[in-house]
Amino acid sequence: MKRNLKTLATETFDLVVVGGGVTGLAIARDAAMRGLAVALVEKDDFGAGNSSNSLKIVHGGLRYLQHLDFRRMRQSIRERRILLATAPHLVKPLGFLLPTHGHGLRGRLAMGVALAMNDLVAWDRDATTDPERRLPGGRILSLSRCRELVPMGLPTDCTGGALWYDAQMLDSERLLVSMAESASEAGAALANHAPVCGLLRRHGKIAGVTVEDGETGERFPLRGLLTVNAAGACLDSILQLDPGIRVAPQPLSVAMNLVLKRPLLREVGLAVSTAISVPDPEARIRRAERMLFITPWRQGSLIGTFHLPFHEPAEEFCLSRHHLNSFLQEVRTAMPWAALSEDDIGLIHAGLLPSLATTGHESPGARV
Ligand SMILES: Cc1cc2nc3c(=O)[nH]c(=O)nc-3n(C[C@H](O)[C@H](O)[C@H](O)COP(=O)(O)OP(=O)(O)OC[C@H]3O[C@@H](n4cnc5c(N)ncnc54)[C@H](O)[C@@H]3O)c2cc1C
Repeated sequence: MKRNLKTLATETFDLVVVGGGVTGLAIARDAAMRGLAVALVEKDDFGAGNSSNSLKIVHGGLRYLQHLDFRRMRQSIRERRILLATAPHLVKPLGFLLPTHGHGLRGRLAMGVALAMNDLVAWDRDATTDPERRLPGGRILSLSRCRELVPMGLPTDCTGGALWYDAQMLDSERLLVSMAESASEAGAALANHAPVCGLLRRHGKIAGVTVEDGETGERFPLRGLLTVNAAGACLDSILQLDPGIRVAPQPLSVAMNLVLKRPLLREVGLAVSTAISVPDPEARIRRAERMLFITPWRQGSLIGTFHLPFHEPAEEFCLSRHHLNSFLQEVRTAMPWAALSEDDIGLIHAGLLPSLATTGHESPGARV
């Protein structure tokens, strides 16, 4: 993979992609493999935005069941299957346990039906003959089995648990670099440290971007028949480069994970309900509260994802003590048995995500 800005400045590409996170790189890779001439520019390093901040879960779309959005479930199942098959060294199956309680929608019966529906929609979830990469079907577990799987503790009203399988990225940064290499091998021209600082127009239409070489400060035009804005939270900053583009600003939310030095569990991930209700106008079955996921991660654990609306321009984001305290408070309320202290925290992942419109109070709009 070679950073060749001269090629970028002289050719006209079929596709110009702005942003070298997972979205931009996946688009560039896919388009290049289909034979298009593709250029991608990233202002920092590849994955410098959210793509290196992830909770590392490759979701198969179980949550879209409550929206009865089977199309989105199928898309998520397909992408999970492709990642498990094409990057078996970087993506592995991981079971997730959701404690059941009562006799309502979180009861054993209702969750059993949900798991059966999930398995039905995901009937072709395995694309691999490697038994270690297969995703077993979901099932309801007894309370004693749940206690074995999650020795750190469970909610007091827990009656057992719903177990389903998703996948976990073992190294999201390495996965991203593999995607960049694979895009480059397919012919895409990629450059990091090359921020977009203007939009080009031809016959009134967007015809590429102006790029600055982050090393020399030199600016040059990068021409493309189609330009894709994959700048994540900086989506609006790109659009604002052209005074002729007027769109409503994209609401943003702060998203955070904690990397804990302590292994809270080893065999499965745990999903825990919080007291925070999430405005979810698309939900058909239940207006859900926010879930926190705790996953085994190397020698410790990962916990997330926390959200808080962010009302400033993306460039001004800076993680504050208020963010950390709010997150710790949420974790301690949702899972007091984990006795989380600040000393447990080894690292904080934080980023901004484009989110759903919020109601103005401190309720989260984005989900990961
Ligand atoms: C704490 C946290 C936990 C998460 N957990 C999960 C999870 O478990 N599972 C999951 O599926 N998703 C998760 N997500 C969401 C996931 O990380 C994002 O959906 C994904 O990374 C978005 O990728 P992206 O490429 O769209 O954006 P980004 O990765 O943010 O990439 C956008 C890129 O555009 C670049 N850019 C910006 N401005 C310019 C410019 N002017 N010129 C050139 N480049 C520019 C940025 O530098 C950046 O690299 C999580 C997110 C966060 C923050």
